[in-house]
Amino acid sequence: MKTFHCDRCNQLVFFENERCERCEARLGYVPQTGEMHAFEDAGDGRWRSLNAEAQGAFFRQCHNYAAENVCNGMIPADCADTLCRACQFTRTIPDLARPENRLYWYRLETAKRRLLYTLGALGLPLVTRAEDPGHGLQFEFLEETGDGPRIMTGHDHGLITMNIAEADDAHRERTRISLHEPYRTLLGHFRHEVGHYYFDRLIAGTRWLDPFRRRFGDERADYAEALAAHYADGSPPDWAERHVSAYASAHPWEDWAETWAHYLHIVDTLDTATACGLALLPESPDEPLLVDQTPVDEASFEGLMARWFPLTYVLNSLNRSLGMPDGYPFALASPVIDKLRFVHRVISASASRS
Ligand SMILES: [Zn+2]
Ligand SMILES: [Zn+2]
Ligand SMILES: [Zn+2]
Repeated sequence: MKTFHCDRCNQLVFFENERCERCEARLGYVPQTGEMHAFEDAGDGRWRSLNAEAQGAFFRQCHNYAAENVCNGMIPADCADTLCRACQFTRTIPDLARPENRLYWYRLETAKRRLLYTLGALGLPLVTRAEDPGHGLQFEFLEETGDGPRIMTGHDHGLITMNIAEADDAHRERTRISLHEPYRTLLGHFRHEVGHYYFDRLIAGTRWLDPFRRRFGDERADYAEALAAHYADGSPPDWAERHVSAYASAHPWEDWAETWAHYLHIVDTLDTATACGLALLPESPDEPLLVDQTPVDEASFEGLMARWFPLTYVLNSLNRSLGMPDGYPFALASPVIDKLRFVHRVISASASRS
């Protein structure tokens, strides 16, 4: 993701910010231009942008920003929408009668906005259910209650369901440990589930299906049986020679979704490093070098991977210096890199970049 600045004082600000930490200006994300703007209150619920490009244009806060405080999206003042574009993708929100659910909803929307940003940056087809009732993407954030049905995080024909317990750090960490996973995050869930959505849109019934099967296996294998076997018997001991994660070995669809999610991790993280101007210039020729700062969407796959390994070395080294677990707890075998290359080709061929 690119870097953002406060229009009033030029302080660096995050994509998630609502206020500038330095000058306290109101901030908001303008999806139409993919920029964070600073605003001054113009009264009547209107906010005047201080961004030079906006030339004093007026905006309103998304309802989920002004009233619910779970969003920082802005809407042009003359637009009839009450929700920003990102919030229009959410069909069902958690029951706010339980106070902790607002925090979980905030975390879910925050991760979802990051997901949408990267999908947009890659030029992937991205439409709401209102825009395309047949193929649009939508999300529901559901809570499992004692007497209700089990809520499974998953994807079904463009509807991504998230069990909101995943937004509870203690719950998610317990699950991560019990499943022996090195990595489990909300953003990872969103990236994984949207991978199933794009399988349906970009692979199923297309020229990509045969090359997909050669790499990932035959997705016509019984899915319910495969998952039941995975949870009963675990993964094969040598899964890491062919898969990006243990779970990816459960079924070709899961292998695809895990690999797709991993590809999004790579391109977004590299994009962030590039946007921050990060370069690694080691003193010894044996140490990893990162001088290339090509924007991610123009880089070849080999270029991406050549930049990825030195960056993850630095990322993990920094985390270790802070006493934190590795930010990137993965090692990629060459068949996995080949699968990532395939995801890259599919996205490059499908992307419409403006
Ligand atoms: Zn500021
Ligand atoms: Zn919103
Ligand atoms: Zn899945």
